[in-house]
Amino acid sequence: MATFKEFRNNVKPNWCPGCGDFSVQAAIQRAAANIGLEPEQLAVISGIGCSGRISGYINAYGLHGIHGRSLPIAQGVKLANRELTVIASGGDGDGFAIGMGHTVHAIRRNLDVTYIVMDNQIYGLTKGQTSPRSAEGFKTKSTPEGSIESTLSPLEIALSAGATFVAQSFSSDLKQLTALIEAGLQHKGFSLINVFSPCVTFNKVNTYDWFKSNIVNLEQFPDYDPSNRIAAMTKIMETNGMITGLIYQNKERKAYDELIVGFKEEGLVKQDLQLSREDFDKL
Ligand code: SF4
Ligand code: MG
Repeated sequence: MATFKEFRNNVKPNWCPGCGDFSVQAAIQRAAANIGLEPEQLAVISGIGCSGRISGYINAYGLHGIHGRSLPIAQGVKLANRELTVIASGGDGDGFAIGMGHTVHAIRRNLDVTYIVMDNQIYGLTKGQTSPRSAEGFKTKSTPEGSIESTLSPLEIALSAGATFVAQSFSSDLKQLTALIEAGLQHKGFSLINVFSPCVTFNKVNTYDWFKSNIVNLEQFPDYDPSNRIAAMTKIMETNGMITGLIYQNKERKAYDELIVGFKEEGLVKQDLQLSREDFDKL
């Protein structure tokens, strides 16, 4: 069985020292190993942005796609080879601005893909502009007088769109984040995991300390029932979207790939397209 170290490759991440994305990468590698995956059973498809580089830093199949388009590619990969465990990933700008149309429809489609968003509430790669996740009044190069737009709530949107798995975590909480990614990978259907992942270079407001003092962990509510959609929406709104943990899971609804008539029986994968571990290691 592969260890998390086997999900590492020899490419050195060029994120800034202290960027939250390092921990997200580590959590993905640990979660994949913990649930017994081999590198050749995993595909990581990313969009554009600092966080989009993550697909190049994990020893698995990977594709660094185009801006806001990680989800169409990831869904195509899953439909073409349903034997693969598929992760889509990217930043809040990638997934909740240019890619938001895909995000909403991937959620309602409920194909078995895990979407991990590194939410730093800014555009980092382009050196600091307001993203849909930035707070009102947030000053950046693109909003020198402060943002006058309201902040998007991806968790509320996900629930409204019919999500079957909604979770949120913090890159500093490696234990919770790893457990949530494991749960997302094992969920049969689309999983949204929004991860607060601070940009230490361009976001001087939403810092590690800011997150630590604003996050509300669901562990504080032992009676919370993640199968209750109304309670989930209430908790998100009560905490101004700062709740972390497994917020909602619907285990009843079947995944898209389980519902396509004829798909399951016939399949799309030819056995000769399946690479062995030995072949994979030679790639
Ligand atoms: Fe991370 Fe921000 Fe640096 Fe990008 S600019 S690598 S998001 S710290
Ligand atoms: Mg961002």
